[in-house]
Amino acid sequence: MASVAVIGGGVVGLFSALTLSQRGHEVTVFDDGRFDQGCSFGNSGLLVPSHFVPLACPGIVAKGLKWLADPTSPFRIKPSFDPRLARWCWLFQRSCSVAHVERSSPLLRDLALESLAQYRHLAWTGFREAGLYMGCTTIHGLEEEAKSAEVAMALGLRAEVLDEPGARKALPGFEGAGAVHYPEDGQIDPSRLMEALVGQVKSHGVALLREQRVCRLALDGGSAVAFGKDGSPIDADWLVVAAGSRSAELLRPLGHDLPLVGGKGYSFVVEQPSPSLGAPVILVEDKVAISPLGGQVRLGGTLEIGTKPGEIDIRRVEGISTAARAAFPQFGTTDPPSGTVWSGQRPCTPDGLPYIGGLKGVSNLTVATGHAMLGMTLAPATSRIVADCVEGGIAPSALDPMRFS
Ligand SMILES: Cc1cc2nc3c(=O)[nH]c(=O)nc-3n(C[C@H](O)[C@H](O)[C@H](O)COP(=O)(O)OP(=O)(O)OC[C@H]3O[C@@H](n4cnc5c(N)ncnc54)[C@H](O)[C@@H]3O)c2cc1C
Repeated sequence: MASVAVIGGGVVGLFSALTLSQRGHEVTVFDDGRFDQGCSFGNSGLLVPSHFVPLACPGIVAKGLKWLADPTSPFRIKPSFDPRLARWCWLFQRSCSVAHVERSSPLLRDLALESLAQYRHLAWTGFREAGLYMGCTTIHGLEEEAKSAEVAMALGLRAEVLDEPGARKALPGFEGAGAVHYPEDGQIDPSRLMEALVGQVKSHGVALLREQRVCRLALDGGSAVAFGKDGSPIDADWLVVAAGSRSAELLRPLGHDLPLVGGKGYSFVVEQPSPSLGAPVILVEDKVAISPLGGQVRLGGTLEIGTKPGEIDIRRVEGISTAARAAFPQFGTTDPPSGTVWSGQRPCTPDGLPYIGGLKGVSNLTVATGHAMLGMTLAPATSRIVADCVEGGIAPSALDPMRFS
């Protein structure tokens, strides 16, 4: 059995810690914050096997370019002279091929279904068999979603295309052209899940060290050594780097410059309207996620690259509010109460697949990051792969952190 230091206490780090401790390893988690920040806390909480198409897919670059001109759109990339960002963009557009989507979709489906099986099985996760509606405001949007539904069904997932009356019946108040229903998708409340996860790992004997930033990694004869905030080396046989969007900067001194950017998103909570919303909806054209949580509804969206973490662009937030109110006019207001907008940095790889696995020339380290929009969905399956890696197994080659080297 190994002593394992997990760097990062987000959903990926904590699920990895849980699985490793269940397999008998001695685990310590180092988190920069207090296990209540990072991207895993205020997200939309949707668990989505239906999202088997990676972020890098045909058509997305053209759509992104169109969105760049609109300050309220769901996408922004801040121009800069950063050569790493330029390289990421180049690799991203290169990955946007049909062949990449066809190769990646079965893997994403399998990892998501494996994760959902775990969520379902673990009562403490608060998993809700909620389903998901992809709500389309235009006929063109519905036609495109119907094509995706066909692919989903070919991949063995359940999907149903609803015309306008069908969508209105399923989603009272919905103003749109139709929807696609994915009944197998699920939902959790992210902050409750994270609280429960902290409790679970503690009860399995994992040491949780808050406000303990790992400041540096270094190589010592083929092994990685982590240094804590007091500058002293951390005593561990194995390191798991699950530091979200900040993982790449930690790994650089080991001689590996993984392309990874933070993709900022926003969310906020508003009151349930009447008639109330029962199931989660993603507004396809506006990329807004609407997640009902009891008496409240969380609205989330946008992907901003190259902007400062924590900085809120109120025009994008207004874009989310406006889209939600237009689709569901029964909302009295969808404006966020003052000071309540949450933002998180999604760790984004250039091909939309996570990085899970080891690094060449480093004998004792597993990387687990890059889950972009799917971190909550894929965390349990990721933790199984991480634990396999620690025990000498290998991750699927499509997830190899060195695939762009
Ligand atoms: C608006 C929005 C909506 C989303 N909706 C969904 C959704 O519906 N479904 C879904 O599946 N996913 C969703 N996501 C994506 C999901 O939130 C992320 O993929 C996921 O949270 C990433 O988890 P993580 O553990 O990799 O990173 P994080 O949660 O960011 O955790 C990383 C942790 O590492 C710590 N850390 C960083 N550097 C160090 C260091 N040097 N030393 C110690 N600790 C360090 C940080 O403090 C942080 O706690 C959404 C994201 C956003 C922004």
